[in-house]
Amino acid sequence: MIVTIIIVIFILLGSASGYQSKSLTRSGALAASIVGLAVYLGFGINGLYLLGAFFASSTFWSKYKSSSKYIIEEKLAKGATRDWRQVAANGGAAGLFSIIHYFNHDMIWLIGFLVCLASANSDTWASEIGSLSKQDPLYIRTFKRVEKGTSGAISFLGSAASLAGSFLISIIGFWLFDLGLFFTCLVFLFGYLGNVIDTLIGAFYQQLYVCGQCGIETEKKSHCQMPTARIKGMVFVDNDMVNFLSGFLASVFAIIITILNN
Ligand SMILES: [Zn+2]
Repeated sequence: MIVTIIIVIFILLGSASGYQSKSLTRSGALAASIVGLAVYLGFGINGLYLLGAFFASSTFWSKYKSSSKYIIEEKLAKGATRDWRQVAANGGAAGLFSIIHYFNHDMIWLIGFLVCLASANSDTWASEIGSLSKQDPLYIRTFKRVEKGTSGAISFLGSAASLAGSFLISIIGFWLFDLGLFFTCLVFLFGYLGNVIDTLIGAFYQQLYVCGQCGIETEKKSHCQMPTARIKGMVFVDNDMVNFLSGFLASVFAIIITILNN
């Protein structure tokens, strides 16, 4: 009981420190607390270790050489301070699988949880490290070079980072949850697949706007203090939606493989 209380306080303090260090907005800190509590409920302290590995490493990479990412932030919808929608996009499905696992101890919910985190980690590493690439990335619809920060574009460095990000979560999962080789590889591959899906949806369906004032193509709904105009993509498909869908789809695919394998 005392241990549980200490851990709950630890989760709340962790979220509060995310707010203090400007990694999270107020709503983001609240959402992170909810995800943390859900993960603790479903997977105990080991689940929190894994969530911590994702949060600590993505915070590290987003702060790493952050001054050189300033121009990219102009293109993205949001900055490095994550609000509740970004937290839900990256951790919502993982929290959901945790709560289901609390009621039903089937292995598939653990796999879903791990693939969600592997996918989120893969995607975050890919964008944060990939944006440091010296060359501009290739846009997958045209295979032409486009500006860094364009959704649906890939680089060698970003792809390597994406593999490494998924690998880290799968190897920690192997160690904490005694996964065995097959499921470790499954989490690694489907975590990476989540990032591939993210790139595909980003290229084909994600919305893009243009600023009427300065002409920049951006994911922001306003720029230069005026509303931007949508030039492509679907209305509801913003970066948060893409992140949520890619992690969720990769998890569902991995769960199907797990069921078929039994
Ligand atoms: Zn502008």
